Amino acid sequence: MVPPLHTPPGETSKELIADWNSLHRVFIRPEDENSRKTLVKYMEQILFGLHDFLNRHVGVTEEISLAQLAQGFTDTRINKEPLKRLADVIEDIINDIAPRAVNVASPYFVGHMTSAIPFFMVHLKAITAALNQNVIKLETSKVLSVLEKQVLAKIHRMIYQREEAFYDAHVQNIETSLGGFTTGGTTANITALWVARNLSLPPKNDFSGIEEDGMAAALRAHDLERMVILVSKRGHFSLKKAGGILGIGNRNVIPVDVDGDRGIDLEKLETLIHDLKKTGKTKIMAIVGIAGATETGVIDPLPRLAEICEEHKIHFHVDAAWGGPVLLSEKYAGLVRGIERADSVTIDCHKQFYMPMTAGMVYFKDPKAMDKISYHARYVNRRGSVDLGIKTLEGSREANSLILDSALKIMGSRGFGLMIDHGIETARKFAQKIESRPLFQLITRPRLNILTYRVVPLEFRRKLESATDEEERIPIDARLDEINIHIQRIQREAGKSFVSRTRLKASPRDNHNVVVLRSVIMNPYTTPDILDQILDEQEAILKDLGNF
Ligand SMILES: *Cc1c(COP(=O)(O)O)cnc(C)c1O
Repeated sequence: MVPPLHTPPGETSKELIADWNSLHRVFIRPEDENSRKTLVKYMEQILFGLHDFLNRHVGVTEEISLAQLAQGFTDTRINKEPLKRLADVIEDIINDIAPRAVNVASPYFVGHMTSAIPFFMVHLKAITAALNQNVIKLETSKVLSVLEKQVLAKIHRMIYQREEAFYDAHVQNIETSLGGFTTGGTTANITALWVARNLSLPPKNDFSGIEEDGMAAALRAHDLERMVILVSKRGHFSLKKAGGILGIGNRNVIPVDVDGDRGIDLEKLETLIHDLKKTGKTKIMAIVGIAGATETGVIDPLPRLAEICEEHKIHFHVDAAWGGPVLLSEKYAGLVRGIERADSVTIDCHKQFYMPMTAGMVYFKDPKAMDKISYHARYVNRRGSVDLGIKTLEGSREANSLILDSALKIMGSRGFGLMIDHGIETARKFAQKIESRPLFQLITRPRLNILTYRVVPLEFRRKLESATDEEERIPIDARLDEINIHIQRIQREAGKSFVSRTRLKASPRDNHNVVVLRSVIMNPYTTPDILDQILDEQEAILKDLGNF
């Protein structure tokens, strides 16, 4: 390997000077055959140098503390003259940055919703950057705006399965929108609830609508005191952000209890709706069903939620940021049945569509729904234009539709489906392993490819079993929390493998939460054998802990 060419920070290498010559070199284009070759070499270094690195380093990260790392990143001055050439910068990234980043591509990295991506994604991302289209408007994107509408229609069809004529009418219709690309699930959820808010506070007499007149006028015009959103307590925290941003207050995103691993407790939900409707002063702006809860992977009973929303005329949003692509699995698509009845749906691209950061999508059943959030400007997004920026929360944005469309071509729906199947089936095997080991307790069964569990040493198990009520279990669980936090931390710091942790009830009857280890299986190279090694490592850490 080429030795890294370090230039000490603050010191300028002699021949590197910021002038028009050097700008030509970095900005315009390779002016001769030689520099062209050099640039190709750098690209190779990115594609293969990084890839080789990821393959060589199976562990998830170097064993180095954050405090130690931070010491190397304290200089806050911008260098006046260039410090390095592109080749050296790339070299540095491969040698100094990559080993200290987190190797999310490792099959031992099973703690979060970020994982390995197919190799071709790097190419597609590079092409998107090279084209540098801005799909906010046609004038900076042209064919990519048209392509985006096609891709949106493909995914809309995957969700809603409307008839051919519907898609013929809308795929390139400049008056309607089947959905939009966003930067992720957070902004997709905010967009969906923004539409829901505006739909539920329409113009009335001399009130021109919430978007124009604001919340105070809206409540006055509609004789309301409060707007609420209902979601199970497993709702992603982006929904709370939406409550804050949309002016209803994040306390009015009301968490409803869950019914074990069956998702939102429908009885409690119906009682809550009944209570909220009593005074006539509270408007339920939306009910959110979760298709793949971030913490547990649990899917809410979507068909029942759809019925409830239809009965009460409430906007039904499904947060399928995680679980949406399950629709591509021939075996498991049925798990998200009912999603086709949602008024709006969130799906992340950078999760189970395996796209690089950052990309999400939001969809609407009604192709006119996004009119409720349309904005025009004199210099872009003129009325009647096809400019995609008219109805999006984001302003300028990259052509992520090109990456998704190409990926669908390369993989086929079946290719994505196979990855989904692998995740779900491997998670089920993992659950069996956990249940067959006496030191572990499975907390939530994998409905999709996420499960939670905790370490419970034998004497704790006996104590828990002989405890007569919850009061007696609380101090035992508190001790177990410490043990599980310790195990998760030590394993993370050792840097070979990674599971995350969260807090959940150990049993639906309980009122208190316990610390659980959380595992997300989405890397196609994560095998049952690797999962055994992860459990072995956790047992070993427990053993080292000695007496407790
Ligand atoms: C990840 C996730 C989100 C948020 O998505 P980001 O892309 O991180 O903004 C929202 N809801 C659910 C269910 C998620 O899993």
